[in-house]
Amino acid sequence: MLLNDRVCIITGAASARGIGKATARLFASHGARVAVLDLDAGQAEAAARDIGPGHIGLACNVTDRAACSTAAEEIIGRLGRIDVLVNNAGITQPLKIMEIGPENYDAVTDVNLRGTLYMSQAVIPAMRGQGSGAIVCMSSVSAQRGGGIFGGPHYSAAKGGVLGLAKAMARELGPDGVRVNSVTPGLIKTDITGGKLTPELKVEIAKGIPLGRLGVADDVANACLFLASDLSTYITGAVIDVNGGMLI
Ligand code: NAD
Repeated sequence: MLLNDRVCIITGAASARGIGKATARLFASHGARVAVLDLDAGQAEAAARDIGPGHIGLACNVTDRAACSTAAEEIIGRLGRIDVLVNNAGITQPLKIMEIGPENYDAVTDVNLRGTLYMSQAVIPAMRGQGSGAIVCMSSVSAQRGGGIFGGPHYSAAKGGVLGLAKAMARELGPDGVRVNSVTPGLIKTDITGGKLTPELKVEIAKGIPLGRLGVADDVANACLFLASDLSTYITGAVIDVNGGMLI
């Protein structure tokens, strides 16, 4: 039980096959009380029920600063404190550089980067107040190698921004007892990637991965658990690659 009684918020955690939901389930199995946040209240509540009793689901669009604060306040009201935040909500757009218009740039940057800032700002006062906390930010291999099959260049830029933001937060919040780390998943089978992966494409992609397979959501959830728990109490500002060796 690595998260006994810890209150953990996971954004973008309602998607059935997603990394957020897998992380919520894993955290719950380690004793956490989980707040599932996502765009739709009904889906967030259903996901919370799905992982077991005692968890809560709330609507929260992470691009809305006031909504992030309201969600954090409600979670403190209902669960008493906030120990962990996983900034997982994200969207991709498979565009090429000259196809990116202002609305594409705004949409992708807003969810992936602005959302990470706003949700972190919403929980930092509580974490500072209690002198402890762990924030995990979901970046991507796309930030490290520039593009991928599913995210566009603006997605790479936003996820690169997440890495910088996480390091800056780690530096500033370390003295307050709050740790901030990032995870960079490679190609993980979820709804973001799922529909577009033909069997041929999977075989082709796997050839470029030393461990010989695509990732699954639990691979990423395990890294989040490590960074959220006391197994990583001397780790902050770090980036954990969960990509099967794709960058070697
Ligand atoms: P997913 O589509 O299954 O889940 C994303 C979730 O975010 C959805 O439930 C969606 O409703 C939610 N969401 C979208 N916009 C939101 C908003 N404004 N506010 C709140 N929630 C919002 O995708 P996934 O593959 O599980 O991705 C999870 C995270 O992992 C994302 O940040 C993604 O960029 C990152 N990632 C995924 C992969 C991959 O291969 N699947 C690789 C690298 C990084």
